[in-house]
Amino acid sequence: MIEQLFERLDSLYDEMIDIRRYLHENPELSFEEVHTPDYIASFHENLGHEVQRSVGGNGVVSVLKGNKSGPKVALRADFDALAIQEANQVAYKSKVDGVMHACGHDGHTAILLGLAKALNKQQESLKGSVVFIHQHAEEKVPGGAKPMIEAGCLEGVDVIFGTHLKSDFPLGMIRYCSGPFMAAADSFQVNIKGKGGHGARPHQAKDSILIGSEIVSNLQKIVSRGIDPLDNAVVSVGSFEAKNPFNVIADSAVLSGTVRTFDEKIRDYIENEIEQIVRGTCIAGGVNYELTYDRGYPALINHAEETMFLAENAQDVPGVEEVVEAKPMMGGEDYAYYLQHVKGTYINTGAENPKWEDKKYHHHPKFDIDERALLIAAKVLGKTVLNYMKSYSQ
Ligand code: MN
Repeated sequence: MIEQLFERLDSLYDEMIDIRRYLHENPELSFEEVHTPDYIASFHENLGHEVQRSVGGNGVVSVLKGNKSGPKVALRADFDALAIQEANQVAYKSKVDGVMHACGHDGHTAILLGLAKALNKQQESLKGSVVFIHQHAEEKVPGGAKPMIEAGCLEGVDVIFGTHLKSDFPLGMIRYCSGPFMAAADSFQVNIKGKGGHGARPHQAKDSILIGSEIVSNLQKIVSRGIDPLDNAVVSVGSFEAKNPFNVIADSAVLSGTVRTFDEKIRDYIENEIEQIVRGTCIAGGVNYELTYDRGYPALINHAEETMFLAENAQDVPGVEEVVEAKPMMGGEDYAYYLQHVKGTYINTGAENPKWEDKKYHHHPKFDIDERALLIAAKVLGKTVLNYMKSYSQ
């Protein structure tokens, strides 16, 4: 079964590259995807799969039903692009001005479509169903995962697997992480409303810059004094604006920042602390304020058993050179929502070409992937699916 799958994927490799390049040339922004989901849905329809379009927005869900009974195994790929002007001079360069697949989601889609075609040929012997979740809008909060789940894409699903191609890790590397893998990413904004005045007569004014500075300073206590040093959290103020002539006391100031956490209790704690600090500092300073705290994606917590199952399956897949345990990352990803509902794991597939002189970082105008990673990822996921079905029915 596994050998057959690998052979089929080998023969589909060129087609997977074509799919990836076609999508790369025709990127669409988050929540604005029209052509991409249509292309994906048609691909699955041609294979005879049960396809649902417009799931929770622009999502597509396709089900391949095996002829034998078994679990429902979901695979997820996102398909949105970013508002970036591509700077690569390649034959498959983006044809859309200011929009680019700069995170590899074109590749994720090609991996799943290649797998769909390969697994479709094994329908006779397939012990269960494969649910292909093609998700829109990963790059933009509130994201596509949540509405797709609310629309029922995980109904009856037993387990979910997914990968992110990583152009900053070497080709042949599979990275897994049991437990917290990616952070919850929240944002906050404080509008300080003081009282403007002459720089020479401070006693007649309420200085918004001074109060804002105290807030920035006081926020530093949250992590350094309030969080167990062995836990992880970040509170960063990234913007602080109060534009005035040099001799004017600022009437108002706006500051905003981001909060990254892995634990819901710590997340709640920090949100509450920010509220307390802003309120206390503003009351003491005699100014008014408005505070908004927006929750982004929750932390992505991989399930231990499924993570180790995938990691073991990845070991001797052709093209895989090392399977390494990864450290958690402070970036966010809405795959987190799926893992709140069903068991599963999210891994990274290295996609850095060994000949590149510079790193091709994600979300960069010169981002690219080594396309051989498509085949490696498809084999790792495909083997995991088949072996999960096999172990499940025993
Ligand atoms: Mn991404």
